[in-house]
Amino acid sequence: MSASVFPVIAMHDADNVAIVVTDGGLKSGDSVRKNAAAEPVTLVSAVPQGHKVAMADILAGQTVLRYNVSIGLAKENIAAGSWVHERLLVMPAARDFANLPMSTAPKKAFEKLEGFTFQGFRNSDGSVGTRNILAVTTTVQCVAGVVTLAVQKIKEELLPLYPNVDDVVGIEHTYGCGVAIDAPDAVIPIRTLRNISLNPNFGNEIFVISLGCEKLPPQRLLPPGSFPLVDERAITEGPHTVCLQDDHHVGFMSMLQNIADGAKLHLERLNARRREAVPASELVVGVQCGGSDAFSGVTANPIVGYATDLLVRAGATVMFSENTEVRDAVEQLTHRAVSVDVAQRIVEELDWYDKYLERGHADRSANTTPGNKAGGLSNIVEKAMGSIVKSGSLPIQHVLAPGEKLKPEQKGLVFAATPASDFICGTLQLAAGMNVHVFTTGRGTPYGLQACPVVKLATRTDLARRWHDLMDMNAGRVAEGEITIEEGGWELFQLLLEVASGRKTWAEHWKLHNSLVLFNPAPIT
Ligand code: CA
Repeated sequence: MSASVFPVIAMHDADNVAIVVTDGGLKSGDSVRKNAAAEPVTLVSAVPQGHKVAMADILAGQTVLRYNVSIGLAKENIAAGSWVHERLLVMPAARDFANLPMSTAPKKAFEKLEGFTFQGFRNSDGSVGTRNILAVTTTVQCVAGVVTLAVQKIKEELLPLYPNVDDVVGIEHTYGCGVAIDAPDAVIPIRTLRNISLNPNFGNEIFVISLGCEKLPPQRLLPPGSFPLVDERAITEGPHTVCLQDDHHVGFMSMLQNIADGAKLHLERLNARRREAVPASELVVGVQCGGSDAFSGVTANPIVGYATDLLVRAGATVMFSENTEVRDAVEQLTHRAVSVDVAQRIVEELDWYDKYLERGHADRSANTTPGNKAGGLSNIVEKAMGSIVKSGSLPIQHVLAPGEKLKPEQKGLVFAATPASDFICGTLQLAAGMNVHVFTTGRGTPYGLQACPVVKLATRTDLARRWHDLMDMNAGRVAEGEITIEEGGWELFQLLLEVASGRKTWAEHWKLHNSLVLFNPAPIT
């Protein structure tokens, strides 16, 4: 091969565009080809890294194909070797929900993976934690300042006495009062908060700080029967609660001391726990992407997809989410649903979300960011095709509505319907019961969560090099031919078992985390 011919990546033989992989992009006059057998194409314009080059002449009105899917129609004639950017494309309309293929994919048998384990914390409700964290649940934003200082006090004065407890985390949020709490959609933020308190990484310890006059009192947030009975008192009294407006609190110090005293019981119980070998089937992995570029769908997301298949084959649960990033792939999803009922549930969730966006006079096209476009993603269709790859290839077994919690029997691949917003998706996946999070990024984001380890994959070697102490794995090696998707998938699978066993991610090392952000489609008062 001549040294002046540069490689480009086409996702499918039928594609008439391919992605420039060379650092710094290519200039007019450079030649590219997608494989050794293909005829080289000479560039007629400069094309930045991550962007698309036309591999054949595309006439005005013709389909531009990537992933063998139409990502738009050409607005004008596009010569082979041209830069194909968003301004040259008319975005196709979203597929309507009529006549979708419902559970039509052949149910391929897959070989089970046996013998993989990690070191986890078994909980009384049967779930398994990957971290041993005391969560301080709050009913309302009013208590957030007090809880922040109380958590600081607990971490300084008590946590060193309980060395098996990893952390103390205040579950702070903006909900709880000033909201239309009886509106139908209020069920989403309420159940999200309830289910976050029950996340496996919190060891079934329920400790609630309440103000006293809020619309979401502890009994409504966690009604008896909604949480495991670690503490017998919970049967009659509800969750273990410190209420700031109680008469016995005289002065601010009394509140802080009362919260710290209350924490001791829970810290003692958490501290008695030890990691033990558990099967990989106890992993509940949430996959997500953020700050995507054109490489997301080429390197990192296919690696995640391969690892998703491995995890499901090992009996684990993997959730994929991000409604606006799967909307354009609805046909693929309903096709892959394990049953017509599951396909119907996918449609219901996406239809509800279309209507939610319509109420705000928006649609799925509001998803793409300036950074996505600068990274080579022309529109949401192209972004969605790269995003959906994270879900692997196996049948979709279950569907969760936003804020719902997985039932113990809901194993395998799950579509957990959430907005694509990184922090909201992460918050809802925590509520669903996620114990490890996988996050891919091309543009780069320092995203992290306090409640759950986040394993971050860079889509490009350049990002992995610059953010060497923020990215946990470099998927850019795929573009350079150093590793295959399959090798990357196995590497990620093994890394997840190590992280689940206690190995710290970079975000944990630096204590980097984002706030929990609730999805509240209901009105504020
Ligand atoms: Ca996202």
